[in-house]
Amino acid sequence: MQHFISTTIPYVNGEPHIGHAQEFVLADVLTRHYPDVYFLSGADENSLKNVLAAEAAGMPTREYVARQSDAFEALTGLLGLELSDFIRTSDDPRHQPVVEAIWRACVERGDIYQADYTGLYCVGCEQFYVAAELTDGKCPEHGTVPETVAESNYFFRLTRYRDQLIELVSTGEIAIEPASRRNEVLGYLRLLDQDLSVSRSAIRSRGWGIPVPDDPGQVIYVWIDALANYISAPGFERWHGFDDVTHVVGKGVLRFHAVYWPAILLSAGLRLPNRILVHNYVTVDGTKIGKSLGNAINPDEPIRTLGLDAFRYYLLRHIGCFKDGDFTWQRYRDAYNQELVNQLGNLVARVTKLSGSEPLPTPDHPICPDLEETVTAHIESFALHKAMDQIFSAIEETNRYVSAEEPWKREGADKDLVLATAVDSLTRIGRSLAPFLPQTSTRITAALAGGKRHLFPRSRVDRVAL
Ligand SMILES: [Zn+2]
Repeated sequence: MQHFISTTIPYVNGEPHIGHAQEFVLADVLTRHYPDVYFLSGADENSLKNVLAAEAAGMPTREYVARQSDAFEALTGLLGLELSDFIRTSDDPRHQPVVEAIWRACVERGDIYQADYTGLYCVGCEQFYVAAELTDGKCPEHGTVPETVAESNYFFRLTRYRDQLIELVSTGEIAIEPASRRNEVLGYLRLLDQDLSVSRSAIRSRGWGIPVPDDPGQVIYVWIDALANYISAPGFERWHGFDDVTHVVGKGVLRFHAVYWPAILLSAGLRLPNRILVHNYVTVDGTKIGKSLGNAINPDEPIRTLGLDAFRYYLLRHIGCFKDGDFTWQRYRDAYNQELVNQLGNLVARVTKLSGSEPLPTPDHPICPDLEETVTAHIESFALHKAMDQIFSAIEETNRYVSAEEPWKREGADKDLVLATAVDSLTRIGRSLAPFLPQTSTRITAALAGGKRHLFPRSRVDRVAL
């Protein structure tokens, strides 16, 4: 059984921040959970935004996107992702032929037609905005009211797939987690009455992007182009061969993944995704991360100060999936100190310091016999924060058990049984942590086998300046 798991591909017109790290880590946990996974990430390079950012940086677009994409690819390494592939949409030779093939398949199906597109166009930005992107009806960059511009574009017959999509989503054939997001998609679909504009004039796009096949005056609008990365990286044959296709996406791009993408796949006669797992966002000090706000934190900082697993831990347990979660340095430091050092680190040190006879007996009352099963169920429904809560309850319970039973005051078979119960629990905890905190999991196994017992140095908290 081979799974396909993807992150969305970020626009590269800014620097990677902890919001990107969140999505990467969520998808990495799923990847590490399943035995055989093709795990894909990449960079969305064909957007006009990248052309504008390159200009602002005084660099040729191609050089600029290469530099930016490298920074995102470096982040996947920094986070220790078990990535199989990283696709760059303007540069990878696999991408354009797949985008063109999908386009042609939709044309053949009779789902692409020409019509006038009317949009809000900012001359300063040289790009179209949708009303929701404007600030009080004005361009967020220039503070000017955009012009209403009409041009002839290609449209995709999205409305043709409305009823079929409602069926697929409501039956769970395309499963969307959590349920509130599934309902959001169904609500949107029920009101859907417009087709989708899928091209822009090549002039307005500054010649950047993939030309429409047989009409070089138009470029394929960035969404079809970007979504196609999920197929251009593995190739058509492999895409059809996966037993399960899972997209991990942020709440802001749900509609593209749960409506536009499946509709395009249906039109082109291609296999559909099985699951769309939707996460909320990271805020910093209670505020949305924004380029203009200057509050973006480079993930390199929290990793350098308290370590990779401390950062993964914070993202998975304190940010989580289904609600917006806040990052503050104070909370990050407190979580490290109170939960990783005092709870988990302390438990590992206490249990592994005691020695008993070999082999230890089988505990008659294990502390958390169902931990791994419960954690698996939470992972598979994308409630990763709940899985973490379960593991940390088991840690607390085991610490309480050790304190109450005081094995250091016992001897012989009596001591062995207490120790065996604690070791059994710690072994389950270590195994359960493997997809979440891989280094810690390995180190728990090593500590149980007589290796180094101190997982989280307390002295590290001083590296966080508040
Ligand atoms: Zn503007």
